[in-house]
Amino acid sequence: MMKKTDSRIIVALDYAAAPDAWQLVEGLDPALCKLKVGKELFTREGPSFVRALVERNFAVFLDLKFHDIPNTTAQAVAAAADLGVWMTNLHAVGGRRMMEAAARQLESMGSKTLLTAVTVLTSMTDEDLRETGIADSANTQVMRLAALAHDSGLHGVVCSAHEAGGIANLQGADFLRVTPGIRSSTAVADDQRRTMAPAEALAAGSSYLVIGRPVTQAANPHKALLAIIEEIGEY
Ligand code: C5P
Repeated sequence: MMKKTDSRIIVALDYAAAPDAWQLVEGLDPALCKLKVGKELFTREGPSFVRALVERNFAVFLDLKFHDIPNTTAQAVAAAADLGVWMTNLHAVGGRRMMEAAARQLESMGSKTLLTAVTVLTSMTDEDLRETGIADSANTQVMRLAALAHDSGLHGVVCSAHEAGGIANLQGADFLRVTPGIRSSTAVADDQRRTMAPAEALAAGSSYLVIGRPVTQAANPHKALLAIIEEIGEY
């Protein structure tokens, strides 16, 4: 059995503080999965925690979803790239000039850090969008923002696995689709609404699977991760 080094699994380290996260990370082989650090853990533990993961050879997705004026966003993305993270992201609703500035910044640094865009948060319903002045359906808005992110020079989007195939068709297979909301058919959905099983999501066009609670809340997280890796045939 051969292990792939470009694992398509990104484990979301949704923990309140570093000691809990280290409990999972200690003993994890960086070839088995990538790790996602989000706003909660980053705000509590800061860049030194991210550096420590990178030093241990983990590919880190710094999920801070930047959204600001073009210059501020570009500089924040530069700071993320300086940490040596594999991927970071921003909100596509920040618009073309913001995304282009961030993409140009990475290019000018010769950085390998990938930059993806959140289109519409999966927690937003059509009614929520209407209240913010967007009359189109969430799906229409996702497709519009994915096209804008692609045109602005980004590497891909964070989206639902249900949208991944459509985005690949429209923007090309090289444009990455990073998909949360992954649940095995037998598992609880938690607060996720439109879930998909790991193998199903890959078949539907996901490039990378973001998996949180099915691993982090499992009685034995390492065992749960290995089961998913086996399920998608990554060995
Ligand atoms: O625990 P679960 O597998 O639902 O975790 C999914 C991860 O993906 C969480 O870190 C969540 O914040 C993130 N996420 C999401 N939906 C999005 C963007 C990010 O669930 N649209």
